[in-house]
Amino acid sequence: MKPGVGVGVNERAGGPASVRFPLNRRTLRHWAKQLVACRLCRNLTLTAFLAILVIEAAILIPSYRNYEENLLSERVDVASQAVITFLKHTQSHPIHPEDLNTLIASSPLVGISLSRDGVMYTAGEAIEQPKPADGVLRNAPRTAAGAIDLVWTSDPTLSDYEVQARVDVSEVPAELLAFVFRILGLSLLIAVFVTAVTMFVIDRMMLSPLLKLRERISRAGEDAEHPLKYLTPTGRHDEFGEVEGAFNSMLKQNASYLARLHLLNRELDQLLDERTQTLRKTEQELQIRTLYDQLTGLANRNLFEEQLDRHFDQVTPGESVKEAVLVLGLNDFQALNGLAGHKTGDRVLQEIARRIGGFSADHGHVARLGGDVFGLLVREHHRHPFENLQARISAIIEACQRPVQVAGKSYECEVSAGVAVILLDGRDARTLLSHAEIAMRRAKKSSSERVQFFASEFGEQVHRRQEMISSLKAAIQNQQLELHFQPQFDRLRHCAGYEVLLRWHHPILGGVSPAEFIPLAEETGLIVSIGDWVLDQAVARLKLWVNQGFRGRMAVNVSAMQLHDEAFADRIAALLQRHGVSAGQLELEITETALMEDVERAMATLNRFRQLGLDLAVDDFGTGYSSLAYFKVMPVSRIKIDRSFVNGLPDSEQDEVLCRTIINMAHSMGCEVIAEGVETEAQASWLALAGCDELQGYLLGRPNSEGFTKSGRQHVR
Ligand code: C2E
Ligand code: CA
Ligand code: CA
Repeated sequence: MKPGVGVGVNERAGGPASVRFPLNRRTLRHWAKQLVACRLCRNLTLTAFLAILVIEAAILIPSYRNYEENLLSERVDVASQAVITFLKHTQSHPIHPEDLNTLIASSPLVGISLSRDGVMYTAGEAIEQPKPADGVLRNAPRTAAGAIDLVWTSDPTLSDYEVQARVDVSEVPAELLAFVFRILGLSLLIAVFVTAVTMFVIDRMMLSPLLKLRERISRAGEDAEHPLKYLTPTGRHDEFGEVEGAFNSMLKQNASYLARLHLLNRELDQLLDERTQTLRKTEQELQIRTLYDQLTGLANRNLFEEQLDRHFDQVTPGESVKEAVLVLGLNDFQALNGLAGHKTGDRVLQEIARRIGGFSADHGHVARLGGDVFGLLVREHHRHPFENLQARISAIIEACQRPVQVAGKSYECEVSAGVAVILLDGRDARTLLSHAEIAMRRAKKSSSERVQFFASEFGEQVHRRQEMISSLKAAIQNQQLELHFQPQFDRLRHCAGYEVLLRWHHPILGGVSPAEFIPLAEETGLIVSIGDWVLDQAVARLKLWVNQGFRGRMAVNVSAMQLHDEAFADRIAALLQRHGVSAGQLELEITETALMEDVERAMATLNRFRQLGLDLAVDDFGTGYSSLAYFKVMPVSRIKIDRSFVNGLPDSEQDEVLCRTIINMAHSMGCEVIAEGVETEAQASWLALAGCDELQGYLLGRPNSEGFTKSGRQHVR
């Protein structure tokens, strides 16, 4: 067969045409390799081959004997025929020895002896022990030259001669050998053919399906998750088909086991989930019980200490004091509990806890440390730079002391607080807490001081501050505040207006500078009420002056916080209306820094000012970082050069440049310029020459309580 010419083996064999493969050299090599590699096939083929050989051998032995006997008889027959023919033709008596020699030469005979009636003729080799010719020739002894001696008794065909003959059978062994080789060759050929056929059949019937099955089994084993993928129809009705069937049913069984297993797994997962959830819940409850106070939900002492330490590890406080541990205790809480009952007591505690909690964004930084004692980490609020530690503590105490409503009744608790400041009073939670508690106990004993700082030096500062705050609160009612007025002059030194400056006469401390108490009022929010009072007084005084003929303006300082109060503008409008004063005569002074602090938030109030016709003067100009673009959208009419720049005039070149720049810039924006803190003539004349519109300062007039007087003229020194 030509290589490459393919014949479908199955098709040819008449079997199911499952695989068609080209029967070329490559395929045959592959097939042979496969067969050789297959141990089963190897054994089977070898066995078949050997079996054929054994059978052939078994057949060969009798055939060999028969063949030998046949060969010998053939020879003997030829010899006897030659003798019979010779005797028939030799009727004459006696027989010539030449004739006998001719007989020997023309037949397989090598020796002969004829005897009749006592007469004997011999020729050729002498015959020793002849055997009758009808016996088994194979067993007859042979001479060294390969001849056998035979005797034929007298009979008519032999003309009554007894014949003894030596027949040459020397060629028989060679013929026998050729026979054996022929047979062996044939057997081998048959064996090879039968083996090849066996191999082919084994491959078709067993090896290939077996390999496929093995492949299927191993793939199914690897992909145990999808047993049904490896199901194949059993095409055969023999044992192999049964094996395939068994495998298929095993796969089906596996699939059903798998489905059950999945189901069980899912159930198990669900169970596990439920268990985990329950466990987690229990764990959480347990944690809540061990870490949180049941009544208030705040952290307990353990968690508080832990959280504080963690916080201190993360945050390294700077040298300036920024954080403190505050311990708050409710005074006479036991009495409240006794009188109003535990339920009310609990409600009060819960409410206080809620209020304290509102001061900390971090849940772990507020705790209930015991019955009526709370702990809190107090930090300076960076988003509110004016609010410092003391202010925060005051605010917390204030919040706690506000009445608590329970079932329509109002309960008030006094609070004693102890403060331990980080770095100053300790570096770890435990020390700070115990120091704050010591301070709190000190506060409880003290009749006058509600807050005690563990470190005295800081405590004194805070104490003074606290005192100042409480006195400032009462200052309006106690009529300790007073307005002073500082005149402002134009270039011709005519009085153009007055700036209102607040004065506080403290009964013990004496006159307190607004530079000290205004920031305090801003931090505590008192500035709103103080500012309202100042405006009210200032407008009332302005009205008085207007009635006396004053045509100038009055400048009132306002803080950022007032600007952020949405009702502020309307309150001013109402005030002006109440006193019958025009908005044009009132000017609001706001520092550059305050104005820029939160422009977006202040914008609503500033727009309202514009509607009302109220003008702004930007105070302390040059100390902040204004965006001039904003000034265009704000009702700014005046810019006040800060005192620090005026101070250096006329000697400091830098201040000169700065002042000149401010003046030019303000004019270019359509604003007037006023210089504050003018103390010398040199400053005044330099400013006037530089184009500054107005001047204010001790040189021209100090703040005083009178301001404009009808009789008195503002003297220009
Ligand atoms: P300010 O608005 O810059 O007020 C000017 C301050 O400079 C006043 O101090 C005034 O007495 C002082 N001064 C005026 N001329 C001279 C001078 O020639 N030389 C020197 N060395 N000082 C001069 P005062 O009255 O102590 O006020 C301090 C600050 O307090 C004010 O600074 C203002 O920011 C604030 N302030 C005063 N009254 C009020 C108010 O009613 N409301 C608000 N929000 N702040 C106020
Ligand atoms: Ca001012
Ligand atoms: Ca100023």
